[in-house]
Amino acid sequence: MKSLLTPGIFLAGLAALLSTGIFPLSASVVVFAFYCAVIGGLFLAWRFHSTRIFFAVLVVFLSQQAVSYYGSFVVSPATPNNSPTNFALFIGLLLPMNFVLLSNRQERGFGFPAIVPMALFLFMQSVFVEVMCRSVAPGITSRLTPPATVPLPLATLVAFGAAALILLARYLLFRKPAESGLLWALAACLLALHFGAAWRLQTAYFAAAAFILAGCVVETSYALAYHDELTSLPSRRAFREAILRLEPPYSIAMADIDHFKRCNDRYGHETGDQVLRLVASRLSRVSGGGKAYRFGGEEFAILFHGQTTADVLEHLENLRAEIESSTLRMRGPERRCEPRGPDRRHQKVQGRRRQTGYAIRQLSQEPASNELSVTISIGVANSGRENRSAEDVLRAADKALYRAKAGGRNRIELASGTARSTRSKAAGIA
Ligand code: GH3
Ligand code: MG
Ligand code: MG
Repeated sequence: MKSLLTPGIFLAGLAALLSTGIFPLSASVVVFAFYCAVIGGLFLAWRFHSTRIFFAVLVVFLSQQAVSYYGSFVVSPATPNNSPTNFALFIGLLLPMNFVLLSNRQERGFGFPAIVPMALFLFMQSVFVEVMCRSVAPGITSRLTPPATVPLPLATLVAFGAAALILLARYLLFRKPAESGLLWALAACLLALHFGAAWRLQTAYFAAAAFILAGCVVETSYALAYHDELTSLPSRRAFREAILRLEPPYSIAMADIDHFKRCNDRYGHETGDQVLRLVASRLSRVSGGGKAYRFGGEEFAILFHGQTTADVLEHLENLRAEIESSTLRMRGPERRCEPRGPDRRHQKVQGRRRQTGYAIRQLSQEPASNELSVTISIGVANSGRENRSAEDVLRAADKALYRAKAGGRNRIELASGTARSTRSKAAGIA
């Protein structure tokens, strides 16, 4: 939710500041801020391979150029057709349409074929706006002192409202900072159109839109660094930072899925990914105040602040039992044994195995049910005299995990060496 609220708070703060008039909005400050935000946004989007944000910033730039030009023409008795709402109508329809199209766009990099169609589309729109605004208001030669605000046509308001709903729905669905950025940049653009006849104000709001878009690129890269995309758990980097802040007492548990390689080999990498998500969602709900991280591959770390292994054992046992009893419903037998993702690297080997009838044997050995379940092994250690640093605790938990594997898997092992077998059925995949 933070990524949804932050740009909104920024925009609300800016609007409040500008409405008071305390902030001296000099032309040079506005131009500087606008070009910084646009160039910064374009650069960041290019650097982080986000064509969606790159084109969204370009749309903001083109809109500002058009509104700066047409926004200064106002209704006058001599030219009654020169309504400033003409630009608000065309730009007000095209801008939300572009944002919605961009939000649905697949990221395919900055290759020539990926960017040329969109660039051409934007060029055609620029020509269209130019032709329409000039043809509706011919013979404009002079610029009059504009009013502060422009009455926006109903169609514009409807287009913005519909686009905002779509972007909000997309954000709630995917929880990505890009969707939130597009949503709030759209709101800033609406304010810019509203103040279309007041050059400084409208440029300040367009600058805010470009700034919000640039910010969402940074937010996206932050989320990628600190969150694991597959499981949505905090990543190993987040774990490394969290253990630097730890104050004793605390416990660290290391959990590892049993025989996960077999699961991948038998059901395919895609099913393996689903299993990882299933296990991660159970781990994320660990009781006792624990916090789960994806440590890497099929390994997870769980941090418990202020607790010893004796305190957390029950919670870990509940977790182990819950994962053991969770099942993943597979979509169909035809999906099994498909080499996917990284497994393609082993296609040669798998090909050889297939020739020798390996895959056929494997399929015939599969259980008839299309439900899949896995088990996990856990090693847990706490801070203390023996384990002074978090690295020591981590090493001790790792050793305990190793013992849990060696002892038959699907069990929890304490670093102190106190074995605690909790097996209730054969470990691994079923
Ligand atoms: P053990 O019970 O001893 O832990 O055996 P294991 O097979 O689980 O352990 P091993 O380390 O041999 O295999 C881990 C496998 O996890 C190998 C790798 O292909 C798979 N893996 C790692 N990351 C991912 C991922 O993101 N998705 C999928 N589908 N598989 C992954
Ligand atoms: Mg494993
Ligand atoms: Mg492992």
